Amino acid sequence: MRLILMGPPGAGKGTQAKVIAAHYGIPAISTGDIFRANVAGKTPLGIEAQRYMDAGEYVPDEVTNAMVRDRIGLEDAKPGFLLDGYPRTLAQVKELDTMLDDYAVELDSVVSLTVDRDELVGLLLQRAQVEGRADDTEEVIRRRQEVYEEQTAPLIKVYDDRGMLLEVDGMGDVESVSRRIFSGLDQL
Ligand code: AMP
Repeated sequence: MRLILMGPPGAGKGTQAKVIAAHYGIPAISTGDIFRANVAGKTPLGIEAQRYMDAGEYVPDEVTNAMVRDRIGLEDAKPGFLLDGYPRTLAQVKELDTMLDDYAVELDSVVSLTVDRDELVGLLLQRAQVEGRADDTEEVIRRRQEVYEEQTAPLIKVYDDRGMLLEVDGMGDVESVSRRIFSGLDQL
């Protein structure tokens, strides 16, 4: 199974990615997690990525693309993988197409979690306040949503036009959302 999981920041992508990946026995590849691990390890990649992440902006495509190409080429990703948080720009879609061609594999589906945007921003602001997360200022939260709308939301149409899109209602508890995702994927 080769899947992409899409959805706005805060939609619970990371949690669902782990559930889906475990179900199919494939790695969940989260570009955000890889960047965060590099930031924590103060690697050159982490140092480069951090300033973009702190501002709620995307890390440049060249950096992200090279990282994903290496990751999906690893042995554990041969039987399949789930991409969480990639692709996020049209240039990344193109590059992913090339990578998949080079590895002679195809995507099975693109799962898009749909959420009530206003409700989501309210929840994120509340969480940032309660947890006192330094990276989650109101300005950065709003900026992340804006960047998603501008750069990533258009990708949904691209995959829909290819007949690969599976839209799933992402509101509600984790199990309900997982159940909806699996019932959609089972019908492929
Ligand atoms: P995430 O945990 O997926 O929300 O990612 C956290 C941050 O990492 C994002 O706000 C971006 O700064 C960066 N990032 C993650 N994935 C990508 C990507 N595909 N392209 C560019 N930047 C990314």
